[in-house]
Amino acid sequence: MDHPSRPETVAAHGGHPEPTPSGGIVPALELSTTYARRSQDYEPPAGLVYSRFHHPNWTQAERLLADLEGAADALLFPSGIATVSAVVETLAPGDHIVAQDSIFWGTRLRFREFGERWGLATSVVPARDLIGAIEPGRTKLVWFETPANPTWEIVDIEAVCTAARKAGALSVVDSTAATPVLTRPIGHGADLVMHSATKYLNGHSDVLAGALACARDSEIWQRIRSWRGTAGAIVGPFEAWLLLRGMRTLYLRVERSSSNALAVANAMARHPKVAQVMYPGLATHPGHDIARRQMRGGFGGMVSIRIRGDGPAALRVATATQLFRPATSLGGVESLIEHRATLEGPHGTVPPDLLRLSVGIEHPDDLVADLDRALARI
Ligand SMILES: *Cc1c(COP(=O)(O)O)cnc(C)c1O
Repeated sequence: MDHPSRPETVAAHGGHPEPTPSGGIVPALELSTTYARRSQDYEPPAGLVYSRFHHPNWTQAERLLADLEGAADALLFPSGIATVSAVVETLAPGDHIVAQDSIFWGTRLRFREFGERWGLATSVVPARDLIGAIEPGRTKLVWFETPANPTWEIVDIEAVCTAARKAGALSVVDSTAATPVLTRPIGHGADLVMHSATKYLNGHSDVLAGALACARDSEIWQRIRSWRGTAGAIVGPFEAWLLLRGMRTLYLRVERSSSNALAVANAMARHPKVAQVMYPGLATHPGHDIARRQMRGGFGGMVSIRIRGDGPAALRVATATQLFRPATSLGGVESLIEHRATLEGPHGTVPPDLLRLSVGIEHPDDLVADLDRALARI
């Protein structure tokens, strides 16, 4: 291309796809697991050997994500959690991890289960204590999420990543809720950006995948790339193909979800049956000023509310909505409502009166009306 396109344009075109052999403008789905070598020199003609190590459908989605994140490179994994594993399994016994306490519970569980068996030292601390918990020379990994699931707490990416770099630790931002549409953590100093691509990147609740993007190539990055092939933690070709298709509408979807979420958050903030609204787009949110600095074009599609009532009352609301489907996960075009405490069980830290809303791309008035009707049940 002779002029650089803006990310929206690059995404709409699915990156810079090569035409298929038949001239199709949509990438071909490649199902072969193995590739014939040339007879004259026994070399693989396209550099492809076996599909546990390389796959053209991964590469298309990875290049697009790297473009959108302003990253040097990106890798796909079979789930968000497999992406967490890819990073922590590069650590050595005795290494120290600093992690924010209010991150996705499954990530915390992975740190605990793997860390205990592998002899990692893990400090799980509130976001405000992240910098203080970093020990120069000992801490190897600093992990946080912004906005953080499910309180949508905001972390100052630049401040934490600068402290991590000074201490010689790798900084990883789980940017699942922000997406590259709203935040590009590498521009704020992050070493690695992680996504559960199951969520907004794919956007249609029909693919499980994860992704990691890096600020620069490094020995750790090569270890992660190698781990994927040797551990066999790979995403299937059809999932990668669907993910690329989903990413083509990422900007439209995230912009609409964000504006809908702001409308829902404002309506809920006025609602007499709602005690608290957790949404970084509200001026009352403790992270609002930082969010305004590091997020562009919106504050995301995720809102949590605490109702005036107990756990059973929250469950009544979660089962009374009609548009908001009562299901876990997030980032799809359809809105979801979830009683988080039920899912997280006894190890969870979420209050029983909290409902997590993944706001989709429907008409905002329909969404607010649906919540109003359901809240009238308590
Ligand atoms: C869902 C989620 C994950 C885990 O991703 P999976 O694709 O379910 O393995 C990690 N981080 C965040 C913020 C998530 O929402």
